[in-house]
Parts: sequence; structure tokens; C-alpha cells
Amino acid sequence: SAPFFLRCGRVVEQMETQKGNDFLQKPSFDPHSIDQELVQKIAYDALVWSSLHGLVVGDRNSQRSGKVPGVGMVHAPIALLPMSFPESHWKQACEVAPIFNELVDRVSLDGNFLQESLSRTKKVDTFTSRLLDIHSKMLEINKKEDIRLGLHRSDYMLDEQTKLLLQIELNTISSSFPGLSCLVSELHRLLLLQFREHLLLDPERVPRNNAVNGFAEALAKAWTEYNNPRAVIMVVVQPEERNMYDQHWLCAVLKEQYQITTIRKSLAEIDATGELQADGTLLVGGEAVAVVYFRAGYAPTDYPSEFEWRARLLMEQSSAIKCPSIAYHLAGTKKIQQELAKPGVLERFLENKDDISKLRRCFAGLWSLNDLQIIKDAIERPGLYVMKPQREGGGNNIYGDDVKETLLRLHVTGNQEDAAYILMQRIFPAVSPAILMRDGVSHRDQTISELGVYGAYLRNKTKVIMNDNCGYLMRTKVSSSNEGGVAAGFAVLDSIYLV
Ligand code: ADP
Ligand code: MG
Ligand code: MG
Repeated sequence: SAPFFLRCGRVVEQMETQKGNDFLQKPSFDPHSIDQELVQKIAYDALVWSSLHGLVVGDRNSQRSGKVPGVGMVHAPIALLPMSFPESHWKQACEVAPIFNELVDRVSLDGNFLQESLSRTKKVDTFTSRLLDIHSKMLEINKKEDIRLGLHRSDYMLDEQTKLLLQIELNTISSSFPGLSCLVSELHRLLLLQFREHLLLDPERVPRNNAVNGFAEALAKAWTEYNNPRAVIMVVVQPEERNMYDQHWLCAVLKEQYQITTIRKSLAEIDATGELQADGTLLVGGEAVAVVYFRAGYAPTDYPSEFEWRARLLMEQSSAIKCPSIAYHLAGTKKIQQELAKPGVLERFLENKDDISKLRRCFAGLWSLNDLQIIKDAIERPGLYVMKPQREGGGNNIYGDDVKETLLRLHVTGNQEDAAYILMQRIFPAVSPAILMRDGVSHRDQTISELGVYGAYLRNKTKVIMNDNCGYLMRTKVSSSNEGGVAAGFAVLDSIYLV
């Protein structure tokens, strides 16, 4: 299987030839070779630690767990031990994060590029069309966002055959798990320390994860730039949210380290109690809002009625700092990802040749559906492609024979519906054995992983206040699942072990 994934027996062999080293230089191991009794011990300690330290989510078996904190919690789905990951690719992902941040900012300023690139999509995708309408309105009134805050997560898979780190997507709205991912890294470091005699792994090879502090710092600095000491940070949330503790972690850091108050509001609540003052100040429930941090609003289901759309427009019109602004949101769509991958397009937004080639190295094959050559190939070899609509949150893509069927159907109907999708080269990461923990039970499985690196960007007019990579999220899922997010029950939160 994975080249960087040696068998456990080999590790022991190497240990014997490297006497004097506490840990191996390139220790890799097969978690499936750990005997069940030891797995049970490690799992028990992992479960206790998770419960004591807030590595938890709402339990779907408990009715109120998505509404009321402190009710019906269960440990987050996690990998028991960190996943091996090559250090060079890890560094590469960290290095490009600030460049992607800058790219998003530049793209967001080019209203025509966003509108034109999405113009065909607009005709067939009502959701994207609504977002574009808000964006158009802002262009019409010449709305300027002087203070711009981006909290992004760029996701990658490591293609096994080519050894290339390829970007899956760049999330500019609602990048999830900055809170819980830090805890997973901490837990894994602790477990490696505690069971070092059995596992022979070096805890220091699990990179420390500062995602939650990085995001909180960016939010706090944005709040400071807004310069109203009485204003709050508003987290836009879904009415029911089982991943609320991930969000609460950020709010806790904001409160404890920065003494900043956060409020949580759904789009419907914002519509009911929000208003704009003459100077553009956004008041929600009578409180001035400095920063709107979206952890909802990225999916059509977040807008069940016109009220929610009205709330989104209200916020966009206000002087509050939006994370993301409508332009940042659109810059993160799959269609824009595909447009940016076309020859010559990055050059429109970035000057530095080095930066451009670093980004381009991460681009997988991306095509629009008016590329007939690719359509033909995708119909013949659908397994080598993924078809993606303009959606977020997992579970929306098309794989395998469904790619073929969908392409044929679109061809037959001959309408413009093809503009809703892009085609992407399917990436095949190495399959690795792992132990996955869910509902207090451990499972051995064959898995593939996706690495996300968080990026925080804050700018006020010409001054870039923050442009950092901050922390990471590893997600590991059973290799037989095409997709399946953490919430959907296929993937688990993981950390990385640098090899
Ligand atoms: P979303 O915004 O819904 O998260 P993604 O583009 O991240 O959309 O796709 C969801 C999931 O589908 C990813 O987490 C990954 O598991 C899988 N996936 C997406 N693109 C590819 C690809 N090109 N090759 C292999 N798997 C992919
Ligand atoms: Mg996404
Ligand atoms: Mg994704």
C-alpha cells in the first residue's frame, strides 16, 4: 500500500539496528498490528480524555443535542492514532496557505470576473443565482469592504501515483473544525507519549495545532479594527447544530483571551431582530455587530424562505465585517476554482511568478462542461472524474457510473443544465489501515485521508494585518466511501504523524 507506510514488524527490526535512538527517524507502523487488548486500553483513555476536554459533538440519538448545549454529548468521531503524512507535503500545504488567502482577496475585488465566470451557472442554479444577485446589488451601490476577513481551509489529497499534493477545494465560508481539530492533535500527542513503549512513536512528530487560536486571533483583530468596544461578534448558525462545540471553542477563546462577547443567531432570528442604522451599523436584538462569522448560510437548506435571504442581504449591506463577504463566498465556489486553474488566469491576480507556480502545482485537472474532449473521455472512463455542482457541506458530488449517466442525460436534454457542474480529475490517495472510533466503539478499517490547512487573512484598506497559515485538519474516511463527511458518519477527525 502506501510507500511511507511500513509494516510494524519492520519497525521493530529497524529499532534493533538503531540502538540508542529513542524513536525512529521515519517510524511508520500498522495500527492493525496492535493487539486488541492494547487497542482497548488506548481507546478507553482516548474516550475519557475526549469527554473531559470537550472533544465532543451532539449525539444524534438525543433529540435536544443540536439545540441545547450540555445535553446529549458524545465524543467526536476520531481516529485512534495519527495518520502518517510526508513532512515535505505538509510543509508545502502550509506554505501555500497565505498565497491562497491573498488570491481570494484579489479575486473578491474583481466583481466582473466573479459575475462573468458564474454567468452560465447563474441561469441554471437558483442558489448560486441568489448569491450573485446580492453580489450585483453590492456592485450597483458601489459597496466597499475596507476591512476584509477570511477564515479559510484549503483541502488536499495526496495522489498516490504521482506523489502530488492536489487541492480538493478551498473553503471560504464556514470552514469547520478549527476547534475540535486542535484537540485531536493534542490527544494524539498525549497517547503517543503515554503508550510510547508499545507504539515507539515520537509525539513531537504530531505538529501542534493552533487553528482555534489563529482563527480567534483573526476574529479578535477584526473586531479591534471595527473599533466599537460595545459591539459583539455574531456567529450565524443553523437552528440545529450538532457540531456546536467546535464553534463554542472559538467563542470561548474570544471570551477568555480577548474579552469579546459573541452571540449566536440563526438567519431567521437575524431577519426578525436585525436592523440597519443610518450609518450602516448592523443591530441584532439591539446589539451592534462588529463581525458576522458565518457557520451557516452556505447551503440552499439554510434558506428555507425569503426571510433568510433578506437577512443575508441585510448583513451584506451593513458596515459589519463579514466573514465571508458575498464576494469571498463566491470566490470559494467550485466554478471559480475551475476558472482559476485555466492557463493565464492566476496571472491576472498575482504578480509573483514563484507564488503562481506554487499554487499551480496544487491544481488538479479541472474542466467546465463545454470541453467536449473531456466530456467524451469522462463518459468513457467515468471513474477517473468527479462531477461537482456549486455546493458546500459534503454529499453533493457525483462519482463513477453516475458521472457517465449524468453526462449522457445532460447531453440528451441539451439544455443549459450542464453549467451547474464542473468536472475534476479524481484523486486517488494511498489506502492505509487505521482504527476509527465512533460511539465509543473502535473499528479497524482501510482508509484514505484528506488534509486541510487553515488560513487566516485580515486586511484594512492597504494594510495586511494578518496573513497566516494556522493549524490543520486531517480527515480520514473508509476507502470504500466516495465522500461522506464527518457528520455523515463515514469520516473521522484525525491528525498527522510526519514521516
Ligand atoms: P464540499 O464543499 O461539499 O466539501 P468537496 O469538493 O470537498 O466539496 O468534495 C467533498 C468530498 O468529496 C471531499 O472531501 C473528498 O472526500 C471527495 N472529493 C472531492 N473531490 C475529489 C477528487 N477530485 N478526487 C477524489 N475525491 C474527491
Ligand atoms: Mg467545501
Ligand atoms: Mg470539502
